[in-house]
Amino acid sequence: MLCCCDVPHALGRRGLLAMAIAAAAMPRHGNAAPGSAGAPDPALIADLVVANHILFDQGVVDGFGHVSVRHDKDPNRYLLARSMAPALVVADDIMEFDLDSTPVDPRGRAVYLERFIHGEIYKLRPDVVAIVHSHSPSVIPFADSKITLRPMNHIAGFLGTGAPVFDIRVAGGPATDMLIRNNALGKALAATLGPHPVTLMRGHGSVAVAQSIRHVVFRAVYTEVNARVEAEALAMGGKPEFLNAQEAAAAMKTNDGLVGRPWELWKRHAEGKS
Ligand code: MN
Repeated sequence: MLCCCDVPHALGRRGLLAMAIAAAAMPRHGNAAPGSAGAPDPALIADLVVANHILFDQGVVDGFGHVSVRHDKDPNRYLLARSMAPALVVADDIMEFDLDSTPVDPRGRAVYLERFIHGEIYKLRPDVVAIVHSHSPSVIPFADSKITLRPMNHIAGFLGTGAPVFDIRVAGGPATDMLIRNNALGKALAATLGPHPVTLMRGHGSVAVAQSIRHVVFRAVYTEVNARVEAEALAMGGKPEFLNAQEAAAAMKTNDGLVGRPWELWKRHAEGKS
C-alpha cells in the first residue's frame, strides 16, 4: 500500500495533501463543472439559443415554454435555459441537466419547474434529440376537447399518427396545479407521448419532439399553425378531410429533408428583431 513515505520525491505530506485536494476538485473535462459531460458543441448552443428566439417570434412560446436539446457529448444529459422568457435567452443561460432533471452546476440559477418533461422523454425515447414544451394558444382547444388534431395539409404530416392527449388527473389526481413538476408526472407524460411526435396536455399546452433542434422547431410551429387552420375549417361547419396515414407519412418524410429552409427564414426574422 502506498503511503507518503513511499513517494520518492521531496513533496512531503503537505504537498501531497494539496495535490490530492486539487485532484479531487479537478473537473472531468477542461473547465466544466465536476460531473459535467463537458462543453457542448458551440454550434449546438447557438442553435438552441436561436430556437428560443424563433419560438417566441413565431408565436409558439411567450413568457412561458421551453426548448431543450440532448447533449452532444453524453446522451444522458440535456441542455436547457435557466428559468426565463425564451426570447431573452443567450448562450450563458444554457444549463446542463441529467435525465432526472437535476442541474449539474446550478450556481444559484433558477430552473424551469417543468424541466421533468424533458428528462423523462429523453429517458423513454432514445431517438429524440430535441423537445419543445409550449402553451401555444391555437392548440389548447384541441387539448381540452375530444376534437382530434389531424394534419390539414402536407406540412403537418407529422401529425398523421395523431397527437394523444395527456390528462394529468390520471397520474396526478384531481387537484394539481397542472404543471409537470416532478419525475413521476414527466414519466406519465412521456408514456402518453409514446412513439408520437406531439402530445397535447389537457388544460395546459403541448409537447413536440424530434431528431434535431430544427426539426422540433418546425413541428412546434406547424402544430400551432395546423391547429389554427383546423379550427377555421371546423368553424366553417364542415368536416375536414385530413391527410390519410400514408399521405401523412410520405409528407413527413419529404418535409424532414426541408426543415433548413424555414429555419433560415425564421432565424433571420427573429434575430433581426432582437
Ligand atoms: Mn407548461
